Amino acid sequence: MQKNDISPPSHFIRQIVANDLQSHKHHGKVVTRFPPEPNGYLHIGHAKSICLNFGTALENNGACNLRFDDTNPEKESIEYMESIQRDVAWLGFEWTQLCHASDYFEVLYQHAVTLIEKGLAYVDSLSAEEIRLYRGTLTQPGKESPDRNRSIADNLDLFARMRAGEFADGQYVLRAKIDMASPNINLRDPALYRIRRVHHQRTGDAWCIYPMYDYTHCISDAIEGITHSLCTLEFEDHRPLYDWVLDKLQTPCHPQQIEFARLQLEYTIVSKRKLNQLVTEKHVSGWDDPRMPTIAGLRRAGFTPQAIKDFCERIGITKQNSWIEMGVLEYCIREDLNTNALRAMAVLEPLRVVITNYPDEKVEELTLSNHPQREELGKRIVPFSKTIFIEREDFSENPPPKYKRLVLGAEVRLRGAYVICCHEVIKNAAGEIIELHCTYDENTLGKNPEGRKVKGVIHWVSQAHSCPAEVRLYERLFTVAQPDNEENFLEVVNPHSLQILKECRVEASLRAATSENRYQFERTGYFCVDSDSTVEKLVFNRTVTLRDNGEKD
Ligand code: ATP
Ligand code: MG
Repeated sequence: MQKNDISPPSHFIRQIVANDLQSHKHHGKVVTRFPPEPNGYLHIGHAKSICLNFGTALENNGACNLRFDDTNPEKESIEYMESIQRDVAWLGFEWTQLCHASDYFEVLYQHAVTLIEKGLAYVDSLSAEEIRLYRGTLTQPGKESPDRNRSIADNLDLFARMRAGEFADGQYVLRAKIDMASPNINLRDPALYRIRRVHHQRTGDAWCIYPMYDYTHCISDAIEGITHSLCTLEFEDHRPLYDWVLDKLQTPCHPQQIEFARLQLEYTIVSKRKLNQLVTEKHVSGWDDPRMPTIAGLRRAGFTPQAIKDFCERIGITKQNSWIEMGVLEYCIREDLNTNALRAMAVLEPLRVVITNYPDEKVEELTLSNHPQREELGKRIVPFSKTIFIEREDFSENPPPKYKRLVLGAEVRLRGAYVICCHEVIKNAAGEIIELHCTYDENTLGKNPEGRKVKGVIHWVSQAHSCPAEVRLYERLFTVAQPDNEENFLEVVNPHSLQILKECRVEASLRAATSENRYQFERTGYFCVDSDSTVEKLVFNRTVTLRDNGEKD
């Protein structure tokens, strides 16, 4: 909580924006945008960009648009558009305007006509394959297309007929006329428009030509009055094209493109294409599977917007690509949940304990705090009775050294209740432990008896008062730190990334658990209610273990 009192550390983009404000560069304005392509759900890498773009606007009293870069209709959908809006809003950001590149299709077309009129664009009949061959390589200049010197009148005519649908897909492309010998391959007459007969989710069948990303993006930025166009490093080599287009056209302004390193997070993948493959090939249950690094997956797993925003602030903004340890993200959610999660008791693998000297019909309503440090989070009733469940692994017949839980003939404290001592282990014919018989000391409720030190504390629930629940434990989705670098990332999917425990028992108060709440199941981890949960069948997800190594106290 302290960190809110300290102003966030600066980084080179904060510095550039501050300097620009001081020098009144963009008339003292800060306008940014987050420009996702609606071809998948947003992931944690996008969260970095969202926090940067919306954060920069918020910090400077500026504006930030959410703009769908919807120029590639075959891969895009309304479902993705809706999920993106939901996820940005859930993170707590409000966009100034909701925009679409497709809003600008007519303007983009007119600008393309202008480029043709200025002799800066031409219609090319080379095939995609030929264009690739003509492009040259990093060491060899490209070769000019035979169509490069087509007359302006012919280009205007052909481009109009491309729009009118007179040609087959791929028959022609509109290309910028820049420099086939440029050392920057992006400037070797890049394509501006291609013919694609695809239904568009917003413009329907109005268009059969679609503008390319590089051409669309800079003009969209200029139309919206963006001052700082923040994007990831792979666009650095595209910046000369961004600037070329805007220099050649009359646009309302010329935004400044600034690149930063994309987030790469260990043990997961941040590529929509690969995440899509995980979904369609059913390695996960959907885009919101709690193991997915999507915002929807993180939300379902119990992550909070605050933890994700903290993470994005903590990793910083630089120009160096680097890998971030998953532990950093886990640290952020633990920090949040340690402060804010309600405490509760849940027994994941129950072992029955009968307290032989406790009266048969007696039930005590014990009052326990919802949070050890935060009284304002209130208290709850936890019933105690003769038959309880404890965690199977909290009893051992052959305890390892330093074992502080229950063993035969020794005492342990039941959290918030009594000290018990185990006298008898009941086994079935197969030799498996099915029940323990213990006695309790009625003078130990909430306090240790004089002169007796009881070190161990274990959690429990009353058999008759607890509710059955399913608990889903998640591990990292991949077995290697950089699955992206594997030849086939699907081969390193962790087969043990989901463990479902169906026989769990949770304390009665959790019957009223809501999806807004987060819980610390004492000694077990942080949990939330899953969207599959119903009144009849409670389902909880483990958000994160209590500690880095998952060790218990
Ligand atoms: P993907 O490779 O997952 O498809 P993308 O860059 O194609 O990502 P877009 O929808 O185009 O996805 O991304 C929208 C914005 O989010 C872009 O400005 C992009 O630079 C940014 N972004 C995408 N991935 C990351 C990442 N891993 N780290 C930081 N920013 C990212
Ligand atoms: Mg993209």
